[in-house]
Amino acid sequence: MADDKKLTPRAQDFSAWYNEVVVRAELADYAPVRGCMVIRPDGYGIWERMQRALDDMFKATGHRNAYFPLLIPESFLKKEAEHVEGFAPETAVVTHGGGKKLDEPLIIRPTSETIIYHMFAKWVHSYRDLPLLINQWANVVRWEMRTRLFLRTLEFLWQEGHTAHATHDDAEDETRRMLGVYRDFMEGWMAMPVVTGRKTDSERFAGALRTYSCEAMMQDNKALQAGTSHNLGQNFAKAFELKFQTESGGTEFAWNTSWGVSTRMIGGLVMTHGDDTGLRVPPLLAPTEVVIVPIWRSDDERGRVFEAAHRIKQSLGAWKRADSTPLRVHVDDREGIKPGAKYFEWELRGVPVRLELGPRDLDKGQAVVVRRDTREKRPVALDTLGEDTSAVLERIQGDMLAAARARREANSLRGSITYDRFREVMEGDGAFVYAGWCGDASCEATIKEDTKATIRVLPDEEFRSAESPTTCMHCGRAATAEALWAKAY
Ligand SMILES: [Zn+2]
Repeated sequence: MADDKKLTPRAQDFSAWYNEVVVRAELADYAPVRGCMVIRPDGYGIWERMQRALDDMFKATGHRNAYFPLLIPESFLKKEAEHVEGFAPETAVVTHGGGKKLDEPLIIRPTSETIIYHMFAKWVHSYRDLPLLINQWANVVRWEMRTRLFLRTLEFLWQEGHTAHATHDDAEDETRRMLGVYRDFMEGWMAMPVVTGRKTDSERFAGALRTYSCEAMMQDNKALQAGTSHNLGQNFAKAFELKFQTESGGTEFAWNTSWGVSTRMIGGLVMTHGDDTGLRVPPLLAPTEVVIVPIWRSDDERGRVFEAAHRIKQSLGAWKRADSTPLRVHVDDREGIKPGAKYFEWELRGVPVRLELGPRDLDKGQAVVVRRDTREKRPVALDTLGEDTSAVLERIQGDMLAAARARREANSLRGSITYDRFREVMEGDGAFVYAGWCGDASCEATIKEDTKATIRVLPDEEFRSAESPTTCMHCGRAATAEALWAKAY
């Protein structure tokens, strides 16, 4: 059982608050090896629901799952120059196996482009074999120095999509399509609004032609890069001899894309929705949507409310909503714990709806429904509990997205901003700042050095300001793009 100590308030120390919520809501725990994490059942339950939803979306867009090995020959990584430069510093290398030194060291995959395109080269011969649309659910290892549960760990779980196409435009369409899938998932399921757009060259994936990203604002006004989609061009195809015969009989290198999201999204969920009482999980991703807390004093009352609570659980579990999924309900019938302590614990764990059920409620044929997101409390007739509860869950899902979007917009700055003001903002509360950029990488680097803020993306059209900025916020030269600046995780 969770202890009843209060969490550090977000306003006092957001980072301490985050660590406490993750550990005390039992999402994850620290592992014996520095930088590794154990994902506990409540955290893994969220991940399983994320996986299921995303997997359906990948399949609906024509992808199939496959699995490639954890170990990759070191020489593979070296075949794409930018890729090795990007990943070599954080690879874990296996040098011994079975007590013997290996002829060639093996890399524990930090990402699987190299081994997957090596295999694609064996499988793709003709334009008829394209597009090849593969996804892999896997773990990867990146030897990070500064780690945080879910946000940055040595090993994490993710999916990586890898595709091969006949033309640049097909690959670009795929890259954009999957970015759209991520956005739909993050907004529709996580209730986490994102800004999509293209990364500048300095933030591009090592070996990609173009990288696109979904950027979400956390409650400390920092950005979280929540998912990326890369048009890899022909860089990997050339390195791995991934060629195909064209319709006209010639030979060409294929065009690749890769895209991924990871358990990092769970960190994003916590930092988007949590409050000073604990976690708030959007209903669609909550392993438990409704917790029933029976209230009693005498043994007699106990018998009655227990029986009713379990009957309600049965009927709610059998009640079908529009998408025909049963409600996920738990009865907290533990003895020797006061109802108040149970409320506290389930609020900390972020269960979206609590049903309080006492003898007097039963007499009136009702239960009391309490929303975790707003704390709103009202009686609901037992006769219509299925309809009412699922309607409340749907409203919570929508309201959480609306609240997160309103918070992001309230902390976004648009229009002309002086560089002095920008620095002030970044030193203070932070924000999403939309401002003009000259396109010069050195200007970008200077701003980063000054303020630790980076260009998160050059936003897609729908996120850009009505009036495009005309000059670079830093150097005053003509702007070539509007950039979204923020400090980031
Ligand atoms: Zn500039």
